[in-house]
Amino acid sequence: MMGLMQDVPLTVDRILDHAAAWHGQREIVSRAADGQVSRSNYAVIRANAKRVSNALAAAGIRHGDRVATLGWNSTRHLAAWYGTAGMGAILHTLNPRLYLEQIAYIANHAGDRLLFADPACADIVGALLREVPAIEAVIFFCDRDGLPGSTFPAIAFDDWISGHPAEFAWGGFDERTACGLCYTSGTTGNPKGVLYSHRSNSLHALMTLQRDALALSARDSILLVVPMYHANGWGAVFSAPAVGAKLVLPGQRMDGESIYNLIEAEAVTYSAAVPTVWQMLLQYVQAHGLGFSTLERVTIGGSACPESIVRTFRDDYRVDVIHGWGMTETSPLATVSVPNASVARLSDDEQIRFKLKQGRLLCGLEFKLVDDDGNRLPHDGRTPGRLMIRGPTIASGYFRGEQAEVLDAEGFFDTGDISTIDSEGYMQITDRAKDVVKSGGEWISSIEIENIAMGHPAVQLAAVVGVAHPKWDERPVLLCQLRQGMTAGASDLRDHLAGRIAKWWMPDDIIFVSEIPLGPTGKIDKRAIRASLQGYALPFRAAD
Ligand code: AMP
Repeated sequence: MMGLMQDVPLTVDRILDHAAAWHGQREIVSRAADGQVSRSNYAVIRANAKRVSNALAAAGIRHGDRVATLGWNSTRHLAAWYGTAGMGAILHTLNPRLYLEQIAYIANHAGDRLLFADPACADIVGALLREVPAIEAVIFFCDRDGLPGSTFPAIAFDDWISGHPAEFAWGGFDERTACGLCYTSGTTGNPKGVLYSHRSNSLHALMTLQRDALALSARDSILLVVPMYHANGWGAVFSAPAVGAKLVLPGQRMDGESIYNLIEAEAVTYSAAVPTVWQMLLQYVQAHGLGFSTLERVTIGGSACPESIVRTFRDDYRVDVIHGWGMTETSPLATVSVPNASVARLSDDEQIRFKLKQGRLLCGLEFKLVDDDGNRLPHDGRTPGRLMIRGPTIASGYFRGEQAEVLDAEGFFDTGDISTIDSEGYMQITDRAKDVVKSGGEWISSIEIENIAMGHPAVQLAAVVGVAHPKWDERPVLLCQLRQGMTAGASDLRDHLAGRIAKWWMPDDIIFVSEIPLGPTGKIDKRAIRASLQGYALPFRAAD
């Protein structure tokens, strides 16, 4: 027997409809590359998004067509997003920080027909058009005066939508219809497309809004530092309008000073970003003896959260860190580290141990640990295994069938992460499967060594990679980027690590570099590090 409740499809256009109807005047603030701040609201964004749908339809875009964006977080980007998804086309976010060849590969693979872009990306667009013949038109996120000089025909977004009606019949299709397309960072092989559905994005928004997840509310002022092209801006593109939070879109500038000024000027209460951004912000705030007047909490994810960031935020600025884990394939948020009833009874210091774990599952998801043969491993907080995950916000395959088999026999997706899960359900990533250092048949967690190394006051960033070793297969090498004006030697780092890691985990070499390379989403780029270490030989030790 079926239930007798209304069968209303979960399509994301309903989220913006709701925001415009009930939080219509709630502000959306956008900062351009030149620092100029413009103000809009949900009612205006919805009207512009409807104009986008009309303009897309007039350009011949139909259900299922891919429409790409190449830009930073801005109100026009948001309107393009909802205007595309609302009419049943697929919003495909391109990451401007990728190499041109990668962007071109992705745009060709996706079959993008139209491209929205930031004026600041004009050079990339020009080169891209030569590589991606299927793109029929380029619309720059600007008004006519802001149009960049270009050798190709380009239209200003404001001109393009003006004259089109602010009404369009959104939705009306199956909630499983594709809504967005985002390619994974492609750390191995070619980038692969994750194709979100309206249903998965709607559910993800609701799941992340729980009090024991991100707990966003109508009273929040959200600074969305994480770029919209990084897995739906970690879902905030949907969850912020769902609750009618004020949204602050910072554009391209992510340095400590720019971010700090926006936080203070816009009374920001909540923000989300990768650890490197927080590190830059904290350094700026510390160096200038500043404080936060309104900031209450920040989500840190994308890479493991160093303890020093959690402590500095908590002890010096009374800001709560919500450590989350996810991946493009998981929409992205899947686990969040917030205290359950028993962790909440622990002292503040003991709670930090749990904060540094990647956390507990959002309702609706399941995970398990398996060994290389697929056998389940215990959730004892000690045994590491491959992390497998299942649920309605998890990818079941990649666009155009890349990598045919991505699920195991039970329908779990292999995350490629190695983790432990403790008896309370707190998951802790110990490594990416491909980054784990395999020494003498045992695994050494590169993340754990990095986190401890970053606890040294002189260390700005640390990265551990495995280097081939004739006897042990691989041994860890630690790369350190020191804070400006600070000094430390290999023996200081060794002293700092000793007693905090198992003896056999001690890196065979510690290399000081001026800059550790970061990938396009701000994560440490281990592929680039490995490439730079080609031909490198470990220091010889007689005992080896
Ligand atoms: P992406 O799809 O580019 O967002 O990358 C997802 C990957 O980032 C995950 O599979 C993890 O390896 C890593 N990651 C994300 N969040 C965390 C976290 N909190 N701690 C450690 N690694 C993380």
